[in-house]
Amino acid sequence: ATFGTLSDRLTETFRNLRKKGQLTPADVDGTVREIRRALLDADVALPVVKDFTAKVRERALGDEVNRALNPAQQVVQIVNEELIAILGGQQRRLQFAKNPPTVIMLAGLQGSGKTTFAGKLAKQLEKDGHTPLLVAADLQRPNAVNQLQVVASQAGAAIYAPEPGNGVGDPVKVAKDGVETARRQQHDIVIIDTAGRLGVDAELMKQAADIRKAVDPDEVLFVIDAMIGQDAVNTAKAFQEGVDFTGVVLSKLDGDARGGAALSVASITGRPIIFASTGEGLDDLEPFHPDRMASRILDLGDILTLIEQAQQAFDEEEAMKMAEKLATEQFTLEDFLSQMQQMRKMGSMKKMLGMLPGMGQMKQQLDDFDEREIDRTEAIIRSMTPAERRNTKLLNGSRRLRIARGSGMTVTDVNQLVQRFDQAAKMMKTVARGGTPNIPGMGPI
Ligand code: GDP
Repeated sequence: ATFGTLSDRLTETFRNLRKKGQLTPADVDGTVREIRRALLDADVALPVVKDFTAKVRERALGDEVNRALNPAQQVVQIVNEELIAILGGQQRRLQFAKNPPTVIMLAGLQGSGKTTFAGKLAKQLEKDGHTPLLVAADLQRPNAVNQLQVVASQAGAAIYAPEPGNGVGDPVKVAKDGVETARRQQHDIVIIDTAGRLGVDAELMKQAADIRKAVDPDEVLFVIDAMIGQDAVNTAKAFQEGVDFTGVVLSKLDGDARGGAALSVASITGRPIIFASTGEGLDDLEPFHPDRMASRILDLGDILTLIEQAQQAFDEEEAMKMAEKLATEQFTLEDFLSQMQQMRKMGSMKKMLGMLPGMGQMKQQLDDFDEREIDRTEAIIRSMTPAERRNTKLLNGSRRLRIARGSGMTVTDVNQLVQRFDQAAKMMKTVARGGTPNIPGMGPI
């Protein structure tokens, strides 16, 4: 995952540090050197690395560490705080205009993920009760208008688009007409998708700057692909000079990126990162929280995002029913299945589990996790009779064989599922009684 290597190396550095009691200046220097190397290898821009390590070094040699009960822990805390600072400090939310429509313009290179982000943002805004209008002002790429139409319909959002054409039409006029249309049709937000090129070029910048001038947006969001590595800084600077922007969207944070873009862009441009795009699906969008991202990088866990995603994914009624079941300890295989299905709704399990603290060490297990597992589980449970689903004690050998045949699985598969369910049921009962579950391999959470 993103920051995987960086995260591994930093946690390794801290593990070594924790073995020591008091820290000598040499220990601090060694640690700072390792952090510096890890950041450079993750493609973080040199000026950012220099500044960061200088601050960490100064603080780590200072009194706050000397006086600390646990100096190593204190150094981790300092790194965490400085990391939050280079990621932008406070969370910055999208700003809305006092008089609607709020105009949001997107800029960025071709392939950076602008169009996809436009759809994601529209979907999220709709969920929050807004009525966004997407405007297709990317007339450069032959298929761009079409692509935005597809994304809009998936997001259930309205779109203003010129007739599909190949490079004809005037994007500035389209953008203006789009905003006008939004005003007339009373959309409270306009999202303007603009053209990008494969590389930074003068004409592209001029077009984006012209659109900006024409529609006077409340937000100009610069979308940048987290995977572009060292180019991130130059690209960001070029867009800042050419168009300027009010905020950054980091896209493809789910990829194998080394993460340098994320760690450089905010401090190089002084513009806040507002969103993180984490997948190709329209729900793969997160508001960016510098503190949570720092926690993830340092493997301190991002429980808050996890909980928020769970809250979004879980059907409230479903959750109530589940709570009742827990209270009465009537947790059945049916519930087990519906729980697994809810988990799937939450998006990739891997992504989710990756937000738990200390999961760095469980990476292999995560990589082994197979979402088809849920399908197999479903097949097995569907092959059971209602009575069997309510009471696993009924499942004798011949019933298990029948279920295995019916679901196209082996008896071993059925046995394993029943065993896992029994464990889960036991855990549920513990929770229902107010205890803390002990998940194997993870310790109590
Ligand atoms: P645009 O040219 O800037 O409009 O970029 P697109 O929105 O067309 O995205 C380019 C490619 O990147 C498409 O294949 C998208 O599916 C993919 N993409 C966009 N955002 C993400 C993301 O957050 N994660 C991943 N993995 N792929 C993404």
